[in-house]
Amino acid sequence: MNKTLFLNDSYLKEFPATVISVKDGKYVTLDQTIFYPKGGGQPYDTGKIVRGTEVFSVVSVGKFSGEISHEVDNVGLQPGDKVQCSLNWERRYKLMRSHTAAHVLAALLNKGTGALITGNQLEEDHVRFDFNIEEFDRALLEEYLAKANQLFGTDVPVKWYELPREEAMKIPGVVKMAAAFPPELPTLRIVEIVGVDKQADGGTHVKNLREIGKVELVKTENKGKNNRRIYFKLN
Ligand SMILES: [Zn+2]
Repeated sequence: MNKTLFLNDSYLKEFPATVISVKDGKYVTLDQTIFYPKGGGQPYDTGKIVRGTEVFSVVSVGKFSGEISHEVDNVGLQPGDKVQCSLNWERRYKLMRSHTAAHVLAALLNKGTGALITGNQLEEDHVRFDFNIEEFDRALLEEYLAKANQLFGTDVPVKWYELPREEAMKIPGVVKMAAAFPPELPTLRIVEIVGVDKQADGGTHVKNLREIGKVELVKTENKGKNNRRIYFKLN
């Protein structure tokens, strides 16, 4: 099982690794990785794997049977190779900022209206967010975005840690996804936005709400009472 360094330190931009296996020339597993695999609404990281002077671009990252597989653009990597890896940090950092922003918005909506998230997808340039709410109007959503922006202007730390599953499940609102219960694991990873939210989550986040800056509403779509959809972006 490869070590997933991003779960402890989401700010690691570079790391050394050893190639463990290569499938079909282009699907590479490493002994440890900072590349986030697609999942939980957060897209995969991109970046580079470098061996000596040779550069292999990481074009996609997925998790298959518990192992993180890095798809590279060129064949040539071999098991045992010592490599240096680096993230496309600009992309990852935007995703971290949007991911934390999405948690804040979900928490505010949940607290204020009882709405649960029914779907969400982060992209590099915007976030799509579906939730169930009776009243759905743009003015109300603008209000929640304004509340979120107010928080993003203050010093609010964000922490992540593991808790025994039983203890974690006692936290009110620890699961805000209507359909997604956390996997049957003995411990759950909690992302805590101090004073705002505690959520079971495997994604990468910023350490302080100040890092988010401001977000703005892009558009809203009404797809039925369980599927009110909004798009927002960092600005
Ligand atoms: Zn999340």
